[in-house]
Amino acid sequence: MPAGHAFTEARRHALRALLAHADLSALLVTKPANVRYLTGFSGSYGALLLLHDRTLFFTDRRYERQAAVEVPGTEVVLAPGDLIGGIAGVLRAAGDGLGFEPAGLTWGDGQRLRAAVPGRAVVPAPPLVEDLREVKDEREVATMREAARLGSEALTELLAGLRAGVTEREVAVALELTMRRLGGDGLAFDTIVAFGEHAAEPHHHPVGRRLRRGDFVKLDFGARVDGYCSDMTRTVIFGRASERQREVYEVVHRAQAAGLDCLRAGVPVADVDRACRDTIAEAGLGEAFAHPTGHGVGLEIHEAPRLRQGAPGRIAAGTPVTVEPGVYLPGFGGVRIEDLAVVRPDGHELLTTAPKELLEL
Ligand code: ZN
Ligand code: ZN
Repeated sequence: MPAGHAFTEARRHALRALLAHADLSALLVTKPANVRYLTGFSGSYGALLLLHDRTLFFTDRRYERQAAVEVPGTEVVLAPGDLIGGIAGVLRAAGDGLGFEPAGLTWGDGQRLRAAVPGRAVVPAPPLVEDLREVKDEREVATMREAARLGSEALTELLAGLRAGVTEREVAVALELTMRRLGGDGLAFDTIVAFGEHAAEPHHHPVGRRLRRGDFVKLDFGARVDGYCSDMTRTVIFGRASERQREVYEVVHRAQAAGLDCLRAGVPVADVDRACRDTIAEAGLGEAFAHPTGHGVGLEIHEAPRLRQGAPGRIAAGTPVTVEPGVYLPGFGGVRIEDLAVVRPDGHELLTTAPKELLEL
Protein backbone atom coordinates (compact mmCIF):
# COMPACT_ATOMS: atom_id res chain seq x y z
CA MET A 1 0.00 0.00 0.00
CA PRO A 2 1.51 3.39 -0.93
CA ALA A 3 2.61 5.58 1.96
CA GLY A 4 0.18 8.31 0.95
CA HIS A 5 -2.93 6.16 1.30
CA ALA A 6 -3.91 7.55 4.70
CA PHE A 7 -3.67 11.08 3.28
CA THR A 8 -5.88 10.44 0.27
CA GLU A 9 -8.46 8.68 2.40
CA ALA A 10 -8.53 11.63 4.82
CA ARG A 11 -9.00 14.00 1.86
CA ARG A 12 -11.95 12.02 0.56
CA HIS A 13 -13.42 12.05 4.03
CA ALA A 14 -13.10 15.86 4.19
CA LEU A 15 -14.64 16.15 0.74
CA ARG A 16 -17.70 14.10 1.75
CA ALA A 17 -18.40 16.61 4.51
CA LEU A 18 -18.29 19.43 1.94
CA LEU A 19 -20.68 17.56 -0.37
CA ALA A 20 -23.38 17.58 2.26
CA HIS A 21 -23.02 21.37 2.62
CA ALA A 22 -23.24 21.81 -1.14
CA ASP A 23 -26.46 19.75 -1.30
CA LEU A 24 -24.86 17.07 -3.43
CA SER A 25 -25.35 13.34 -2.94
CA ALA A 26 -22.44 12.47 -5.22
CA LEU A 27 -19.50 14.11 -6.95
CA LEU A 28 -17.86 13.02 -10.18
CA VAL A 29 -14.19 14.10 -10.15
CA THR A 30 -12.56 14.21 -13.58
CA LYS A 31 -9.96 17.01 -13.36
CA PRO A 32 -6.64 15.10 -13.40
CA ALA A 33 -5.07 17.13 -10.57
CA ASN A 34 -8.15 16.58 -8.40
CA VAL A 35 -8.23 12.86 -9.19
CA ARG A 36 -4.57 12.61 -8.22
CA TYR A 37 -5.11 14.59 -5.03
CA LEU A 38 -7.96 12.38 -3.88
CA THR A 39 -6.57 9.01 -4.96
CA GLY A 40 -2.82 9.23 -5.60
CA PHE A 41 -3.43 7.95 -9.14
CA SER A 42 -0.75 9.33 -11.47
CA GLY A 43 -2.04 7.90 -14.77
CA SER A 44 -3.84 9.88 -17.45
CA TYR A 45 -7.16 8.03 -17.66
CA GLY A 46 -9.08 7.99 -14.43
CA ALA A 47 -12.18 9.41 -12.76
CA LEU A 48 -13.46 9.23 -9.24
CA LEU A 49 -17.09 8.93 -8.26
CA LEU A 50 -17.74 9.75 -4.65
CA LEU A 51 -21.08 8.52 -3.34
CA HIS A 52 -21.92 8.90 0.31
CA ASP A 53 -21.17 5.26 1.09
CA ARG A 54 -19.06 4.14 -1.88
CA THR A 55 -15.95 5.32 -3.70
CA LEU A 56 -15.57 4.16 -7.28
CA PHE A 57 -12.52 4.63 -9.43
CA PHE A 58 -12.97 4.37 -13.20
CA THR A 59 -10.08 3.59 -15.51
CA ASP A 60 -9.21 1.18 -18.30
CA ARG A 61 -7.15 -2.00 -18.66
CA ARG A 62 -3.85 -0.13 -19.25
CA TYR A 63 -4.08 1.17 -15.69
CA GLU A 64 -5.70 -1.82 -14.00
CA ARG A 65 -2.54 -2.86 -12.14
CA GLN A 66 -1.46 0.68 -11.41
CA ALA A 67 -4.92 1.50 -10.01
CA ALA A 68 -4.85 -1.58 -7.76
CA VAL A 69 -1.55 -0.37 -6.27
CA GLU A 70 -2.07 3.39 -6.25
CA VAL A 71 -5.76 3.62 -5.42
CA PRO A 72 -6.50 1.16 -2.61
CA GLY A 73 -9.71 1.62 -0.71
CA THR A 74 -11.84 2.21 -3.81
CA GLU A 75 -13.85 -0.06 -6.10
CA VAL A 76 -11.96 -0.09 -9.38
CA VAL A 77 -14.28 -0.18 -12.41
CA LEU A 78 -12.91 -0.71 -15.90
CA ALA A 79 -14.63 1.57 -18.42
CA PRO A 80 -12.58 1.13 -21.58
CA GLY A 81 -12.97 3.96 -24.07
CA ASP A 82 -16.17 5.26 -22.52
CA LEU A 83 -15.77 6.79 -19.10
CA ILE A 84 -19.19 8.45 -19.16
CA GLY A 85 -20.94 5.25 -20.25
CA GLY A 86 -19.32 3.32 -17.41
CA ILE A 87 -20.16 5.98 -14.87
CA ALA A 88 -23.75 6.26 -16.03
CA GLY A 89 -24.33 2.60 -15.28
CA VAL A 90 -23.43 3.14 -11.63
CA LEU A 91 -25.23 6.46 -11.34
CA ARG A 92 -28.62 4.96 -11.95
CA ALA A 93 -28.28 3.41 -8.52
CA ALA A 94 -27.28 6.71 -6.85
CA GLY A 95 -29.49 9.36 -5.29
CA ASP A 96 -30.41 12.78 -6.63
CA GLY A 97 -27.97 15.69 -6.85
CA LEU A 98 -24.89 14.63 -8.79
CA GLY A 99 -22.20 17.26 -9.05
CA PHE A 100 -19.62 17.26 -11.83
CA GLU A 101 -16.55 19.43 -12.36
CA PRO A 102 -17.29 21.90 -15.16
CA ALA A 103 -13.53 22.39 -15.73
CA GLY A 104 -12.96 18.63 -15.95
CA LEU A 105 -15.60 17.58 -18.46
CA THR A 106 -16.35 18.60 -22.03
CA TRP A 107 -19.73 20.16 -22.69
CA GLY A 108 -20.66 17.11 -24.73
CA ASP A 109 -19.79 14.69 -21.90
CA GLY A 110 -21.78 16.84 -19.48
CA GLN A 111 -24.80 16.49 -21.78
CA ARG A 112 -24.32 12.72 -22.05
CA LEU A 113 -24.11 12.46 -18.28
CA ARG A 114 -27.42 14.33 -17.94
CA ALA A 115 -29.05 12.14 -20.57
CA ALA A 116 -27.83 8.98 -18.82
CA VAL A 117 -29.74 9.71 -15.61
CA PRO A 118 -32.99 11.31 -16.78
CA GLY A 119 -35.05 13.08 -14.17
CA ARG A 120 -32.09 13.53 -11.78
CA ALA A 121 -30.38 16.80 -11.00
CA VAL A 122 -26.93 16.80 -12.59
CA VAL A 123 -25.26 20.11 -11.73
CA PRO A 124 -21.88 21.82 -12.06
CA ALA A 125 -20.26 21.56 -8.62
CA PRO A 126 -18.44 24.44 -6.90
CA PRO A 127 -14.62 24.01 -6.78
CA LEU A 128 -14.73 21.86 -3.63
CA VAL A 129 -11.56 19.88 -4.30
CA GLU A 130 -9.68 23.04 -5.31
CA ASP A 131 -10.70 24.56 -1.96
CA LEU A 132 -9.34 21.52 -0.12
CA ARG A 133 -6.11 21.62 -2.11
CA GLU A 134 -5.32 25.23 -1.20
CA VAL A 135 -3.79 24.40 2.20
CA LYS A 136 -1.07 21.77 1.92
CA ASP A 137 -0.05 19.18 4.50
CA GLU A 138 3.60 18.87 5.47
CA ARG A 139 4.11 15.96 3.11
CA GLU A 140 3.03 18.11 0.17
CA VAL A 141 5.17 21.01 1.38
CA ALA A 142 8.20 18.72 1.62
CA THR A 143 7.66 17.62 -1.99
CA MET A 144 7.38 21.22 -3.14
CA ARG A 145 10.48 22.15 -1.12
CA GLU A 146 12.34 19.50 -3.09
CA ALA A 147 10.96 20.77 -6.42
CA ALA A 148 12.00 24.32 -5.50
CA ARG A 149 15.46 23.17 -4.45
CA LEU A 150 15.96 21.52 -7.84
CA GLY A 151 15.08 24.80 -9.54
CA SER A 152 17.51 26.86 -7.45
CA GLU A 153 20.29 24.32 -7.96
CA ALA A 154 19.70 24.13 -11.71
CA LEU A 155 19.95 27.92 -11.90
CA THR A 156 23.33 27.97 -10.11
CA GLU A 157 24.67 25.42 -12.58
CA LEU A 158 23.27 27.26 -15.56
CA LEU A 159 24.62 30.68 -14.60
CA ALA A 160 28.11 29.27 -14.07
CA GLY A 161 28.17 28.15 -17.71
CA LEU A 162 26.44 31.12 -19.38
CA ARG A 163 28.39 32.39 -22.43
CA ALA A 164 27.85 35.13 -25.04
CA GLY A 165 26.20 33.88 -28.23
CA VAL A 166 24.03 31.19 -26.65
CA THR A 167 20.35 31.39 -27.67
CA GLU A 168 17.30 31.70 -25.43
CA ARG A 169 16.12 28.33 -26.67
CA GLU A 170 19.43 26.66 -25.78
CA VAL A 171 19.33 28.13 -22.29
CA ALA A 172 15.75 26.89 -21.81
CA VAL A 173 16.71 23.36 -22.87
CA ALA A 174 19.80 23.41 -20.60
CA LEU A 175 17.74 24.46 -17.59
CA GLU A 176 15.12 21.81 -18.30
CA LEU A 177 17.70 19.04 -18.72
CA THR A 178 19.47 20.06 -15.52
CA MET A 179 16.26 19.93 -13.51
CA ARG A 180 15.57 16.46 -14.88
CA ARG A 181 19.11 15.29 -14.15
CA LEU A 182 18.92 16.58 -10.57
CA GLY A 183 15.83 14.46 -9.98
CA GLY A 184 12.80 16.31 -11.35
CA ASP A 185 10.05 14.16 -12.89
CA GLY A 186 9.29 16.86 -15.43
CA LEU A 187 8.61 20.54 -15.88
CA ALA A 188 6.06 22.59 -14.01
CA PHE A 189 5.44 24.66 -17.18
CA ASP A 190 7.19 25.82 -20.36
CA THR A 191 10.41 27.58 -19.38
CA ILE A 192 10.61 31.32 -20.03
CA VAL A 193 14.00 32.65 -21.10
CA ALA A 194 14.20 36.28 -22.23
CA PHE A 195 17.33 38.21 -23.20
CA GLY A 196 17.68 41.99 -23.40
CA GLU A 197 14.63 43.77 -24.84
CA HIS A 198 12.69 40.46 -24.79
CA ALA A 199 12.65 40.70 -21.00
CA ALA A 200 10.01 43.45 -21.42
CA GLU A 201 7.47 40.70 -22.22
CA PRO A 202 6.21 39.09 -19.01
CA HIS A 203 5.75 35.67 -20.68
CA HIS A 204 8.24 35.61 -23.51
CA HIS A 205 8.56 32.33 -25.40
CA PRO A 206 12.28 31.53 -25.95
CA VAL A 207 13.53 31.98 -29.53
CA GLY A 208 16.86 32.12 -31.36
CA ARG A 209 17.90 35.50 -29.89
CA ARG A 210 21.59 35.31 -28.92
CA LEU A 211 23.01 36.53 -25.63
CA ARG A 212 25.03 39.77 -25.74
CA ARG A 213 27.00 41.79 -23.20
CA GLY A 214 24.76 44.09 -21.20
CA ASP A 215 21.60 41.99 -21.64
CA PHE A 216 19.06 41.33 -18.98
CA VAL A 217 18.62 37.56 -18.61
CA LYS A 218 15.17 36.76 -17.25
CA LEU A 219 14.47 33.11 -16.38
CA ASP A 220 11.09 31.83 -15.14
CA PHE A 221 10.90 28.08 -14.65
CA GLY A 222 9.96 25.24 -12.35
CA ALA A 223 10.35 21.53 -11.78
CA ARG A 224 7.75 18.89 -11.03
CA VAL A 225 8.30 16.31 -8.30
CA ASP A 226 5.65 13.66 -7.58
CA GLY A 227 3.13 15.81 -9.45
CA TYR A 228 3.90 18.97 -7.45
CA CYS A 229 5.25 22.12 -9.10
CA SER A 230 7.83 24.72 -8.21
CA ASP A 231 7.97 28.18 -9.74
CA MET A 232 10.73 30.80 -9.61
CA THR A 233 12.03 33.77 -11.59
CA ARG A 234 15.43 35.38 -11.48
CA THR A 235 16.76 38.22 -13.59
CA VAL A 236 20.51 38.76 -13.89
CA ILE A 237 22.72 41.02 -16.02
CA PHE A 238 25.12 39.43 -18.48
CA GLY A 239 28.03 41.82 -18.01
CA ARG A 240 27.96 45.06 -16.06
CA ALA A 241 24.62 46.63 -15.26
CA SER A 242 23.88 50.11 -16.58
CA GLU A 243 22.68 52.64 -14.05
CA ARG A 244 19.11 52.34 -15.34
CA GLN A 245 19.19 48.54 -15.21
CA ARG A 246 20.40 48.72 -11.63
CA GLU A 247 17.66 51.20 -10.67
CA VAL A 248 14.91 49.06 -12.17
CA TYR A 249 16.33 45.94 -10.55
CA GLU A 250 16.45 47.56 -7.12
CA VAL A 251 12.83 48.73 -7.37
CA VAL A 252 11.63 45.20 -8.14
CA HIS A 253 13.89 43.75 -5.45
CA ARG A 254 12.41 46.16 -2.86
CA ALA A 255 8.87 45.43 -4.05
CA GLN A 256 9.39 41.70 -3.77
CA ALA A 257 10.81 42.08 -0.25
CA ALA A 258 7.82 44.24 0.72
CA GLY A 259 5.43 41.55 -0.53
CA LEU A 260 7.22 38.81 1.40
CA ASP A 261 7.33 41.02 4.51
CA CYS A 262 3.57 41.02 4.83
CA LEU A 263 3.16 37.33 3.96
CA ARG A 264 1.81 35.54 7.02
CA ALA A 265 -1.29 33.55 7.95
CA GLY A 266 -4.46 35.62 8.14
CA VAL A 267 -3.29 38.45 5.91
CA PRO A 268 -5.73 39.55 3.16
CA VAL A 269 -4.36 38.34 -0.20
CA ALA A 270 -4.92 41.82 -1.67
CA ASP A 271 -2.51 43.29 0.94
CA VAL A 272 0.42 41.30 -0.42
CA ASP A 273 -0.36 42.59 -3.89
CA ARG A 274 -0.68 46.16 -2.61
CA ALA A 275 2.68 46.00 -0.79
CA CYS A 276 4.46 45.15 -4.05
CA ARG A 277 2.39 47.50 -6.19
CA ASP A 278 2.82 50.53 -3.91
CA THR A 279 6.60 50.12 -3.85
CA ILE A 280 6.75 50.06 -7.64
CA ALA A 281 4.30 52.98 -7.97
CA GLU A 282 6.35 55.09 -5.54
CA ALA A 283 9.30 54.68 -7.91
CA GLY A 284 7.13 56.04 -10.74
CA LEU A 285 6.90 52.65 -12.48
CA GLY A 286 3.35 51.66 -11.51
CA GLU A 287 2.21 51.39 -15.14
CA ALA A 288 5.03 48.95 -15.89
CA PHE A 289 3.73 46.30 -13.43
CA ALA A 290 0.68 44.97 -15.22
CA HIS A 291 0.10 41.49 -13.82
CA PRO A 292 -1.01 40.00 -10.49
CA THR A 293 1.58 39.66 -7.72
CA GLY A 294 1.31 35.91 -7.28
CA HIS A 295 -0.66 32.70 -7.13
CA GLY A 296 -1.00 29.48 -5.23
CA VAL A 297 1.03 26.50 -6.47
CA GLY A 298 0.59 22.76 -5.97
CA LEU A 299 -0.41 19.94 -8.31
CA GLU A 300 -1.13 22.73 -10.79
CA ILE A 301 1.11 25.66 -11.49
CA HIS A 302 -1.68 28.20 -10.96
CA GLU A 303 -3.97 27.48 -8.03
CA ALA A 304 -5.96 29.38 -5.47
CA PRO A 305 -5.37 31.86 -3.96
CA ARG A 306 -4.72 34.55 -6.55
CA LEU A 307 -2.71 37.44 -5.14
CA ARG A 308 -4.16 40.28 -7.14
CA GLN A 309 -5.67 43.74 -6.72
CA GLY A 310 -9.05 43.60 -5.03
CA ALA A 311 -9.00 39.81 -4.58
CA PRO A 312 -11.12 38.66 -1.63
CA GLY A 313 -9.98 36.35 1.14
CA ARG A 314 -7.08 35.81 3.47
CA ILE A 315 -4.12 33.47 3.25
CA ALA A 316 -4.17 30.43 5.53
CA ALA A 317 -1.13 28.79 7.12
CA GLY A 318 0.21 25.97 4.97
CA THR A 319 -0.55 27.67 1.66
CA PRO A 320 2.32 27.86 -0.85
CA VAL A 321 2.18 31.04 -2.95
CA THR A 322 4.48 32.92 -5.28
CA VAL A 323 5.44 36.57 -4.84
CA GLU A 324 6.52 37.82 -8.26
CA PRO A 325 6.37 41.54 -8.96
CA GLY A 326 7.96 42.81 -12.15
CA VAL A 327 8.69 45.94 -14.16
CA TYR A 328 8.52 45.74 -17.96
CA LEU A 329 9.73 48.57 -20.19
CA PRO A 330 9.23 48.05 -23.94
CA GLY A 331 12.46 48.41 -25.92
CA PHE A 332 14.55 48.37 -22.74
CA GLY A 333 13.83 45.08 -21.03
CA GLY A 334 12.36 44.03 -17.74
CA VAL A 335 12.93 42.50 -14.34
CA ARG A 336 10.88 39.99 -12.41
CA ILE A 337 11.86 38.33 -9.15
CA GLU A 338 9.73 35.39 -8.03
CA ASP A 339 9.96 33.19 -4.97
CA LEU A 340 7.80 30.31 -3.88
CA ALA A 341 7.02 30.54 -0.17
CA VAL A 342 4.76 28.63 2.18
CA VAL A 343 2.71 30.74 4.56
CA ARG A 344 3.27 30.09 8.28
CA PRO A 345 1.42 31.40 11.37
CA ASP A 346 4.07 34.08 12.04
CA GLY A 347 5.45 34.64 8.57
CA HIS A 348 6.54 32.37 5.79
CA GLU A 349 9.15 29.82 4.79
CA LEU A 350 10.96 30.51 1.53
CA LEU A 351 11.10 27.39 -0.63
CA THR A 352 13.13 29.12 -3.33
CA THR A 353 16.69 29.31 -2.07
CA ALA A 354 18.51 31.19 -4.87
CA PRO A 355 19.94 34.61 -3.89
CA LYS A 356 18.26 37.82 -5.06
CA GLU A 357 21.02 40.44 -4.96
CA LEU A 358 21.74 41.89 -8.41
CA LEU A 359 24.03 39.46 -10.17
CA GLU A 360 26.43 40.71 -12.86
CA LEU A 361 28.00 37.85 -14.76
ZN1 ZN B 1 7.06 31.79 -12.62
ZN1 ZN C 1 4.40 32.22 -11.00
